[in-house]
Amino acid sequence: MIPDVKNSSLRWIPACLIALTVALATGCDPADDAEANASNEADLSGAEYGLVIHGGAGTIVRDNMTEEMEEAFHAALAASLEAGNAVLEEGGSALDAVIAAVEVMEDDSLFNAGRGAVFTAEGTNELDAGIMDGATLNAGAVTGVREIRNPIQLARLVMDESPHVFMAGEGAEVFAEQFDLERVDPEWFYTERRWEALERAREDESFDLSWWEQEGRMLGTVGAVARDRDGNLAAATSTGGMTNKRFGRVGDVPVIGAGTYASNESCAVSTTGHGEYFIRNVVARDVCARMEYLGESVQEAADALILERLADQGANGGLVAIDRNGHIAMPMNTPGMYRGHFLAGGEPFTAIYSDEGDGSR
Ligand code: ASP
Repeated sequence: MIPDVKNSSLRWIPACLIALTVALATGCDPADDAEANASNEADLSGAEYGLVIHGGAGTIVRDNMTEEMEEAFHAALAASLEAGNAVLEEGGSALDAVIAAVEVMEDDSLFNAGRGAVFTAEGTNELDAGIMDGATLNAGAVTGVREIRNPIQLARLVMDESPHVFMAGEGAEVFAEQFDLERVDPEWFYTERRWEALERAREDESFDLSWWEQEGRMLGTVGAVARDRDGNLAAATSTGGMTNKRFGRVGDVPVIGAGTYASNESCAVSTTGHGEYFIRNVVARDVCARMEYLGESVQEAADALILERLADQGANGGLVAIDRNGHIAMPMNTPGMYRGHFLAGGEPFTAIYSDEGDGSR
């Protein structure tokens, strides 16, 4: 059953009224809050099983969204949570749950992954995906694939059916031929919205450093992290990368340790944002390492990366994480990140803007 998304956003009305009252009393502009870093500190008490998802972070501000768009994103996130939760509820694995959740978003043109992938400078779509199993530290990743409908499934096959971790482009597609994996004509990935974004990017030759200001250029990388009933963790991330990328550019998503990482010793992490910075800072693994070596909580470790290290470097983005005890974190240093969670014993929660919090009770 698809959860009542409207109700989930209505839950925030009292919080918004309080924020507005405080803002009026203190003379600060609530719009400033939307720009602020948001650690979204979770006091969620630790779930027996559950998943956390994201659908990309960026300059997502209310002024640029219509009510219909907000509803569409909430519904898409809810559908993804529902798919992942269905696996976990029945005792399925964290790995199967993250794949189920990511696939739903790959098939939805709202997100920059699978169907809605952004275009390269050459007008093609080159898709990246990565997956990691926290129980075994096995991992699989693909980059630059053009005809695989759900790249996250191919990443899983790399992990399960080959002795390798990372496959690229044509080689990855030849590997895929051995399996019953849905292939599509590259036209499948064509969407008007992403094509227009490419045309705008071509006009001013923007790719990376200026993309952040360019609304809608590349938002929507998707990811999921989960803990199953057996206490196993998994992470999965999928993306079209960045609009107008060229020269076979590879982002952080399929780089294990940068955009995707999971270890049962600490946590599972999936990131979104300016990939070059996430690679240089080995963000996903570093969140886990901070927990393991410094004894930080998942919230402290995730905040240290997103709100301090990356923010200090001027790098925009966010991440979702779940630790081995079912605690979660979803910090962002951007005005918004499409996100949500569905934790055992709780209700599905979806949010868009940074000031909507994390669904803590
Ligand atoms: N991290 C992705 C990349 O750099 C983009 C994103 O998350 O939106 O390819």
